[in-house]
Amino acid sequence: MTETNKSENKTKLRGLGLSETEALAKDLGQPAFRGRQLFRWINKGITDFREMSDLPEVFVRKLEEKCTAGSLELMDHQVSAKDGTEKFLFGLGDGNAVESVLMRYKYGSTACISSQAGCRMGCAFCASGINGLNRSLTPGEMLSQIMDIERYASSPVSISHVVIMGTGEPFDNYDGTSGFLRLIHDEKGRNMSSRNITVSTCGLVPGIRRFADEFPQVNLAVSLHAPDQETRERIMPVSRAYDMDELMAACEEYTEKTHRRITFEYALIRGVNDSDVSAARLANMLRGMLCHVNLIPLNKVGETGLDGSGRKRAREFAELLEKRGIPATVRRELGSDIDGACGQLRLKRG
Ligand code: SAH
Repeated sequence: MTETNKSENKTKLRGLGLSETEALAKDLGQPAFRGRQLFRWINKGITDFREMSDLPEVFVRKLEEKCTAGSLELMDHQVSAKDGTEKFLFGLGDGNAVESVLMRYKYGSTACISSQAGCRMGCAFCASGINGLNRSLTPGEMLSQIMDIERYASSPVSISHVVIMGTGEPFDNYDGTSGFLRLIHDEKGRNMSSRNITVSTCGLVPGIRRFADEFPQVNLAVSLHAPDQETRERIMPVSRAYDMDELMAACEEYTEKTHRRITFEYALIRGVNDSDVSAARLANMLRGMLCHVNLIPLNKVGETGLDGSGRKRAREFAELLEKRGIPATVRRELGSDIDGACGQLRLKRG
């Protein structure tokens, strides 16, 4: 048997919650508190059982035989010379790979993680969907991206914020995403505050409803990218399943339930959604909602034939919205020299 085959049959500890890790310890002939110790080490990112200094030798040997932390394989790593943003390509051990990004800000470090290998939403401007969906990620694989970013980063880093804005649609993998949110929030694990986590969706309405009920403290971003149904249908096939009216109704419900501000993401695409009329329509549609518009200068993806509007137009567009009372900011462009746009690194290697 090869090394990989061996580790495939092992239990991956990073995907287990506290009570599951306690149960595993019992299965391996140990008292529950050994499971709690193991859970703490695993959530600190330790992968070598020999480094878990308070575990007895017999337990360590059992763990080596039956379990693995479930860390990812580093396949590629790029560091932006411009701004220090780091991009990682991680192998999942089954031939699939996902991208994760580390951005360092003054207030802390943010990991942008993937929820699926590929994506089936098919947005016209996005590289992630070009080859469709391979599979959804497990909660452990989502958590592992954070731990392995910390492990392989070019200098020591402790991630304080997470955005699920890498490859994939988190609400097309609701179980994986919700499992991940519970794991990372666990106070005996990483204990990350819900307020420091943002989930971004292309607008799967049932997911938004469920999320409002189950995770009212986690931030929600909605990829809108259009001021009306007609334009949205041109660039986002998902809007044929859940149209603009349904989406807006779900967003209104979300704020009623959670009292939280939604971020609407809007990538400016030349000649498609960036006119003065588009800005006025967008402002009318969002008037009265507790929201904020994040304008994204489109990262040009070769295969899509769509062009970004440029930063100057983005600033003008932001002003048009602000004038109409809608708070808007232009997203900083990080990592533009390292295939920063969604799915680009993975596509290149594909
Ligand atoms: N599926 C989720 C999350 C992943 S994408 C979603 O759609 O929200 C994260 C954000 O990047 C989304 O707003 C997405 O529309 C945007 N995006 C995708 N391709 C892009 C590109 N080429 N340039 C700029 N933003 C892009």
